[in-house]
Amino acid sequence: MDRLWQAPGGGGVNALGQRIAALIAAQGPITVAQFMTMALHDPQYGYYAVNDPLGDGGDFLTAPEITQIFGELLGLWAAQCWHDQGKPPSARLVELGPGRGTLMCDALRAAKLMPAFSAAIEVVLVETNPVLQKAQEATLAECGLKIRWSPTFDATLTDRPLFLLANEFFDALPIRQFVKTDRGWCERMVGLDTNGGLAFALAPAASSIAIPMDRGPAELGAVYEAAPAATAVMEDVARTIAQKGGAALVVDYGYGANAGFGETFQAIGEHQFKPLLDEPGTVDLSAHVDFGALARAARENGAVSYGPANQGDFLIDLGSVGRGERLGQMMQVDRLTNPVQMGALFKALAILPNGAPKPAGF
Ligand code: SAH
Repeated sequence: MDRLWQAPGGGGVNALGQRIAALIAAQGPITVAQFMTMALHDPQYGYYAVNDPLGDGGDFLTAPEITQIFGELLGLWAAQCWHDQGKPPSARLVELGPGRGTLMCDALRAAKLMPAFSAAIEVVLVETNPVLQKAQEATLAECGLKIRWSPTFDATLTDRPLFLLANEFFDALPIRQFVKTDRGWCERMVGLDTNGGLAFALAPAASSIAIPMDRGPAELGAVYEAAPAATAVMEDVARTIAQKGGAALVVDYGYGANAGFGETFQAIGEHQFKPLLDEPGTVDLSAHVDFGALARAARENGAVSYGPANQGDFLIDLGSVGRGERLGQMMQVDRLTNPVQMGALFKALAILPNGAPKPAGF
């Protein structure tokens, strides 16, 4: 379908595209991270401001929406870590980006096997999306625990042992892209084409960014993706865990060791890949999570990291097969654990304090 452009400088096909184009016309090209932030979080049109993206009728399907076993095993994992660290009587269970609340609902139900854990925790959901917060309130209405919401991982979450779960949260945080040229690493920007539509363009001058050593040598044209917002969240989480105790489990799709170079910025709508710039606000934007960078950020803030392990190995180690057989959900377990499905692309990374017992699954 041809695009119907507005007058030159007028912008793209939808209202948010026009708003972004107007910003670029006024102040110059923006970074990919700025584009992602506007596309996902614009208060009026942003994808995560107005949509419930999950489920069959939505744009993508996540592990907790596939089977209750996922949330149950993660809840038991957190309760076990709490137990291993001497059962601190006042602790916090936090989930980043809780979607419809399904994972937390399953986690809390399973954690009732350890009633002292349920009694010790304050449950906090970190969520920006008002539509999803409503869904979380409904899902968790009967869970028997009082729930608090926070729009960010802020200072109210750092004063106690922190048990934290995050599934498909870090992939939604904005990334910056840099392309290796003969002038050095130049940032990929979003600017305007001659019709006033959104288009990628390289910054003319090289950026002085430090490329992680573990990436190896880069050829001309190589793309490096940095996720400064993801690193910043991990720094706060790891510092809290290092100082107060606790455990974090990050599950997401992404690369582990030997990440190399390559671009993974993607748009998904209605379970399919979509163009990146054409319909901001109506498609989900994400990028592979750099688990090596998250683990490094955790270690630099005094915590210990385990993994990343493949999601398949991690869940099987926690007992997904036995639970799947009991519930008659082997197809769902296969979907989460089989390497040709979600088992290898998705990975699990754990963050613990120095000296704490090794967590299950690693
Ligand atoms: N964990 C859920 C949902 C994954 S979708 C599941 O597995 O089903 C990503 C989630 O992160 C959504 O709840 C979205 O609203 C939330 N989110 C995205 N960006 C965020 C941000 N910057 N701060 C807080 N929450 C965010």
